[in-house]
Amino acid sequence: MYGTGLAKGLALTLRHFVDSFVDDIRYGMRKYHHSTDNFGIRQGTKTQGVITVQYPDEKVAVPERFRFVPFLIVEDDDHPTRAGKDWCTSCGICAKVCPPQCIWIVRGNDPVTGRPVPEPEAFFIDIDICMNCGYCAEYCPFDAIKMDHDYELASYDRTTHHIHDKERLSKPNSYWRKIAPTRAYDEMMVRGTWEHIDVAKEARRGQSAARRGTSQPSPQPAAAAPPAPAAPEAEAPASPPEASSAAAGATPWSEDEAKREERRRKALERKARRAAKQGGG
Ligand code: SF4
Ligand code: SF4
Repeated sequence: MYGTGLAKGLALTLRHFVDSFVDDIRYGMRKYHHSTDNFGIRQGTKTQGVITVQYPDEKVAVPERFRFVPFLIVEDDDHPTRAGKDWCTSCGICAKVCPPQCIWIVRGNDPVTGRPVPEPEAFFIDIDICMNCGYCAEYCPFDAIKMDHDYELASYDRTTHHIHDKERLSKPNSYWRKIAPTRAYDEMMVRGTWEHIDVAKEARRGQSAARRGTSQPSPQPAAAAPPAPAAPEAEAPASPPEASSAAAGATPWSEDEAKREERRRKALERKARRAAKQGGG
């Protein structure tokens, strides 16, 4: 019938209007008191009727999976071994998967050797371009980039303030655990530790090395012997290392180690030949 929809809409509005007062009576006006508990009641799922949030004095709590712009996780200042260290290894995966391409990373270099190190020297995100999709956080293999809950990012200068640099992006691990305890816990279960995945790997390597060290003697002398390019033939074993080790009663080398040693010997021979040729020429 003509006008039914309109009547239904008005009835709904009237119900919300009445419910607001019913709710007020039920909580005895407690829900309008500006304390954390009462504000929680007002936001609860059982709340009926219409309420007005007095923003910015009051803020509605966001759900755990809410995502705004990304931030980078760094170790807490009180971490015993890695205080303030980046979780990001500057692998660049987030920058590759970012649909609008708003992430820019500069990989760090060791100041002494000049070799790349697994941490970002610079990290920028243009938050005006970021569309809050969360791909970067989903794809990061090191759990180093996460979506923040902080949505109050307005400023008068969008040219500089909206390009977040590494300093602005970095937030401690404890912050992530606080805003997303369930997700942080799930990630910890997958990693097997609350620590960075590299720390866990390092610990596992140390444990297996310790086990190897106690269960079987490793061929330390040969592995530790420094290469001598000038006289590789003298250093190279005349017979396969298995034979000498076995003869000495030690654990025989594996086939892989023997092949590796053979390759190393040949490489040293080639290097020596090259050096001799250059010296003679
Ligand atoms: S994917 Fe993760 S570890 Fe790799 S650069 Fe991005 S934030 Fe860093
Ligand atoms: S949330 Fe999406 S758009 Fe924003 S930086 Fe991450 S991948 Fe890019």
